[in-house]
Amino acid sequence: MQFQSFLIKYAEIGTKGKNRYMFEDALMKQIRFALGNVDGNFEVTKESGRIYVTADGDYDYDDAVEALKRVFGIADICPMVQIDDKDYENLKKQVVEYMDRIYPDKNITFKVVARRGDKQYPVSSDQINRDMGEAILEAFPQMRVDVHEPDVLLRVEIRQKVNIFSLMIPGPGGMPVGTNGKAMLLLSGGIDSPVAGYMIAKRGVKIDAVYFHAPPYTSDRAKQKVVDLAKLVARYAGPMDLHVVNFTDIQLYIYEKCPHEELTIIMRRYMMRIAQAIAEKNGAIGLITGESIGQVASQTLQSLAATNEVCTMPVYRPVIGFDKQEIVDVSEKIGTYETSIQPFEDCCTIFVAKHPVTKPNLNVIRNSERHLEEKIDDMVQTALETAEIIRCQ
Ligand code: ATP
Ligand code: MG
Repeated sequence: MQFQSFLIKYAEIGTKGKNRYMFEDALMKQIRFALGNVDGNFEVTKESGRIYVTADGDYDYDDAVEALKRVFGIADICPMVQIDDKDYENLKKQVVEYMDRIYPDKNITFKVVARRGDKQYPVSSDQINRDMGEAILEAFPQMRVDVHEPDVLLRVEIRQKVNIFSLMIPGPGGMPVGTNGKAMLLLSGGIDSPVAGYMIAKRGVKIDAVYFHAPPYTSDRAKQKVVDLAKLVARYAGPMDLHVVNFTDIQLYIYEKCPHEELTIIMRRYMMRIAQAIAEKNGAIGLITGESIGQVASQTLQSLAATNEVCTMPVYRPVIGFDKQEIVDVSEKIGTYETSIQPFEDCCTIFVAKHPVTKPNLNVIRNSERHLEEKIDDMVQTALETAEIIRCQ
């Protein structure tokens, strides 16, 4: 094993002043959660402005790095050698050994950058740079110093312990989940909504999800696909509850009572109403959808306005200005694409009209919804009461 520990660098959360510890603690919690599925025992600790992950004994390095790459709030993952013994001669020895182990090809240029967090340490940073550089050159004459554009920037940090590192693996950025409240994701089996959930979670928002299915018109496999997607999003966003709402009766009732070209809009208005009720009950203060302007008839500006009208909660639509290909690119990057394209029926597509309205008039829509007055409140109530909750992690 090359490395027994990692230094975790975080970007934006460093700017949060007094709240910083909250962000650090949330980040540590997410790191522990992410490493929970990796072979090995890990300890996650913090020391002013630094988070460390230390493996106790053998562990799966590649899996650990992959897991850390999914933790929002991490800017860089630096595999490091951490030593307790701060003796200067020992430090030189360790630095030389580090360069030897990590860079078997000695034909490289390097620069040493030392920092003293421990100001009591008897040697200045500049002196450490020079002495370590000298020790490396003495051990490996093929190596050369380049202070402007070195192949290797070797960092030596003198803190409670000494950290030696030169590798930096980019993390996903963003903020630790749990630092920005909770929102309810409308998760369908498509490409867009998992991406939308990922993007909002990336900003530190905890998410739960709601899926509307219409058995027997939609199958168990379509539902399973959404559960699979929720689990894939949970790899980044942390565990989430997926509320599965039976939407069949409501859809059939709308189909029976309302003009067919308005079906999609009215259906979507009921989805939003129900999602909002579930959100309120579960402490979520926003809704998230995968809508993108103009993608389909129900996503023209007029349709979005009609759908939005029933929500009092803010609706976050992080892919609103993305082209389809841009959304696909993110879904491939985060690993949801392959699951999203599995061909299962979607509850919205079963009752779609040949020529849905693209510019719904709000008064007309409200008027059509009056035809539902007799039973719709009870149906919504039943849908809420019978929703199944599936824990996805
Ligand atoms: P997606 O790829 O996310 O399914 P889409 O392009 O198919 O999006 P629509 O079917 O119009 O678009 O849905 C728009 C948004 O409404 C979705 O991104 C999702 O947030 C929500 N939505 C649609 N269908 C459902 C459903 N059955 N359950 C929960 N949310 C849904
Ligand atoms: Mg869809």
